[in-house]
Amino acid sequence: MSTARQHKIVLDESELPTRWYNVLHDLPTPPPPYLHPGTGQPVTPDDLTPLFPMALIAQEMSAEQYVDIPEEVLDVYKLWRPSPLYRAYNLERALGTPARIYYKYEGVSPAGSHKPNTSVPQAFYNKAEGITRLTTETGAGQWGTSLAFACAQYGLECEVWQVRTSYDGKPYRKMMIETFGGTIHPSPSELTAAGRAILAEHPDSPGSLGIAISEAVEVAAQDPNAHYALGSVLNHVLLHQTIVGEETLLQLAKVGETADVVIACTGGGSNFGGLAFPFLREKLAGRMSPVIRGAEPASCPSLTQGVYAYDFGDTAGMTPLMKMHTLGHDFMPDPIHAGGLRYHGMSPLVSHIYESGLMEAVAMTQTDCFAAGVLFSRTEGILPAPESTHALAEVVAEARRCAESGEAKVIVVGLSGHGHLDLPAYAAYLAGGMQDRTYADHEVQESVREALTKLPAIPS
Ligand SMILES: *Cc1c(COP(=O)(O)O)cnc(C)c1O
Repeated sequence: MSTARQHKIVLDESELPTRWYNVLHDLPTPPPPYLHPGTGQPVTPDDLTPLFPMALIAQEMSAEQYVDIPEEVLDVYKLWRPSPLYRAYNLERALGTPARIYYKYEGVSPAGSHKPNTSVPQAFYNKAEGITRLTTETGAGQWGTSLAFACAQYGLECEVWQVRTSYDGKPYRKMMIETFGGTIHPSPSELTAAGRAILAEHPDSPGSLGIAISEAVEVAAQDPNAHYALGSVLNHVLLHQTIVGEETLLQLAKVGETADVVIACTGGGSNFGGLAFPFLREKLAGRMSPVIRGAEPASCPSLTQGVYAYDFGDTAGMTPLMKMHTLGHDFMPDPIHAGGLRYHGMSPLVSHIYESGLMEAVAMTQTDCFAAGVLFSRTEGILPAPESTHALAEVVAEARRCAESGEAKVIVVGLSGHGHLDLPAYAAYLAGGMQDRTYADHEVQESVREALTKLPAIPS
């Protein structure tokens, strides 16, 4: 244990990890394959070529333990990586806890979140294979901003469908996307068949990530020079994010610590997987035994209340079927402030790891999250993204349990981004106008069962 009081644990540029870690290599059992919705058979690389470059398809399906990060990607990473790890002395003191809390801060990236860790390699591999245009969806706007930045780095066009509620409620992300050179549309839009179908039924649809995915996929599939880029959920995205956990392990080693609890918020699972998977490798190898815990919104509880079943990744049913924790592909989450956590499903890899008993999950209410975010800003001086406050709320709860039991656990938390463009959400919380939405289990199960009856038959 370190005796010197060191708030910020940094790595030199020369210590930047040069490989991503693929957790698939070390899992006791492999996750179930993605299925083609037409045939019910496992998808082949050929099924994915209209949407993704070969390099990413290979990463999606690979079980190699490590993937070398290309030089051209490391060069861009170095604009903000390695990112800092902080010891949260001030938060610990405010909570009166014997726990030692460390937070890995991804808000130092160009987009203010962890998402450029994958947008940069995705743009790079697409450019390398001759693609000139990338389409995508975005919720709160974090992913759209990240992809627009990455496209600007490599000279690609970027076209973004943003969930309607966020498009209206968070105009600064739209401005940032346009400043980085991207084009942005509210979703549902009249530009696609998927969008028009939703608008015909629900003219004031608030949109959802699932609908926006349908629109971006449809446009990419129709243009041979365009591909689609996904900011979460898929294996290759989580692979790219593992640079976060690899750096964190190096940083903890510098101060002689190992983790007892690793906590991150879960939307589609990418910042969670990125932080947690290298720790899971250590755990499976018997070198460390941290509890690994995802924190999700109570209003979009795919892990804690969803069903583990094959479902579509989007609302229109254009993606492969993925076995995952799902609320049903037509689930319409409440328009909460943590837009990045409003997704009906969960990464199939994270879902599989959850089912395998290798991680835990908890659901947090919005008011508890903002209370933790405000406490964190007043103690540590960083205003967290609403998404990240879910992890912080669980850290506060864990640290309080430590205060009661007297256990000096080491808690490591992913601070996935800053909330500088989410200030209206903080204003709403401070004004006392925030509502919590929770679901009874049966409410969720009914919605899922209903959605799953619309799926094509799956061979068992
Ligand atoms: C997008 C986002 C998330 C949620 O996405 P994951 O894939 O679950 O990580 C969390 N935090 C921030 C800051 C985000 O932008």
